[in-house]
Amino acid sequence: MSQKITAIRGFNDILPAESWRWGEVEAVLRDLMRAYGYHEIRLPIVESTPLFARAIGEVTDIVEKEMYSFADRGGESLTLRPEGTAGCVRAVLEHGLTYNQTQRLWYTGPMFRYERPQKGRYRQFHQLGVETFGMSGPDIDAEIILMTARLWRSLGLEKAVRLELNSLGELDERARFRSALVQYLEKHRETLDEDSQRRLASNPLRILDSKDPATQKILEAAPTLTDFLGPDSRRHLDGLRAVLDAAGVAYVLNPRLVRGLDYYNKTVFEWVTSELGAQGTVCAGGRYDGLVEQLGGQHTPAIGFAIGLERLLLLHAAVHAETESSEADVFVAAVGDGTAPAALLLGETLRDALPDLRVLVNCSGGSFKSQFKKADKSGARFALVLGQDEVEKGTVSVKWLREEREQQSLAQSEVAAFLRENHTL
Ligand code: ATP
Ligand code: MG
Repeated sequence: MSQKITAIRGFNDILPAESWRWGEVEAVLRDLMRAYGYHEIRLPIVESTPLFARAIGEVTDIVEKEMYSFADRGGESLTLRPEGTAGCVRAVLEHGLTYNQTQRLWYTGPMFRYERPQKGRYRQFHQLGVETFGMSGPDIDAEIILMTARLWRSLGLEKAVRLELNSLGELDERARFRSALVQYLEKHRETLDEDSQRRLASNPLRILDSKDPATQKILEAAPTLTDFLGPDSRRHLDGLRAVLDAAGVAYVLNPRLVRGLDYYNKTVFEWVTSELGAQGTVCAGGRYDGLVEQLGGQHTPAIGFAIGLERLLLLHAAVHAETESSEADVFVAAVGDGTAPAALLLGETLRDALPDLRVLVNCSGGSFKSQFKKADKSGARFALVLGQDEVEKGTVSVKWLREEREQQSLAQSEVAAFLRENHTL
């Protein structure tokens, strides 16, 4: 036997036992976007490498060590997108979509990061991303958070997630905080974990994120970003909080919430769950008013978020344990030589007459008993049995699989009417 080829580490197959759940969640997401007037944008999976370096920041985890970059045959450096915002801003600029207009956009698809695979963390994963452009007030910040809150309700997850909120202020406010933080942490350099020592020079705000207990202890007495916010940043945060309060969306102010990417200012938020262990952030977002300009456009305020779909699906499965209920409404059994064509044709007739009906036709024969087993397993409510006798007479035996009811014989031409009468779709 030749050696088996397997999937690449961190790249997952989504098998039928799970894909039905994906389909259901994706349908809810699509309806949600429609309900808020957001438009889908479909973006390429590969972009030129400098886009990410410029957008996300040279000293971020993503750009430093997580990107799948390669030279194509022409020698150009390309990267499998590690996130969607950079490509979305690139597209919006390239097509002038923010010229004299606002935009509310969404996209979904795979993202790629070279990380250590574990539960909730993969090398290919999927995001649903939302990006809005041209709106600077806290009202749009509130809208996208209300939208995510509605999503948890639609999926029955509202009790499993909590909202954390912070303001990162503006660049100059953050710069002042940054010096104060570095000054404070320098005094405790020896006690910091290794990663944090390195970040002291490159990306000190990220130290606030450290999970190391010794570092966390030191952070308890560190200066907080909140104290460095100017009046405009404060007003913005207050405006957002007022809407969340009025709408009854609970949140925790977390002054240590920073994001892994460089481009955020003012509002940042995360929806976090305790159900998934260490990979608890299901949705993360924030304002990035400087990014469009940074990528060569006119100054354009913007805010967005991304949901990690694998984590959302894990959470959904943890909260709603049930499996797929059924794959068919009707099972057509073909018992005996020469009955298969009649079964296939009956299936076609039924699908013509009842487009919402799910019809599963037995293929490749089998005894009555084995076909009956398949019918039962499919979850169908009716089995339509075609033996040689039925085929000859143009009839079909109808069996109720879930109810104690008499089997009956019908003309094949009457089956559609029978189902319409006896089965609600
Ligand atoms: P984390 O702190 O978990 O690494 P992040 O800050 O790198 O997250 P973002 O870049 O904000 O994540 O991406 C948004 C969301 O995408 C995350 O909140 C998470 O749900 C999901 N996500 C990020 N990286 C991965 C991954 N490697 N595998 C699965 N989901 C991921
Ligand atoms: Mg990460």
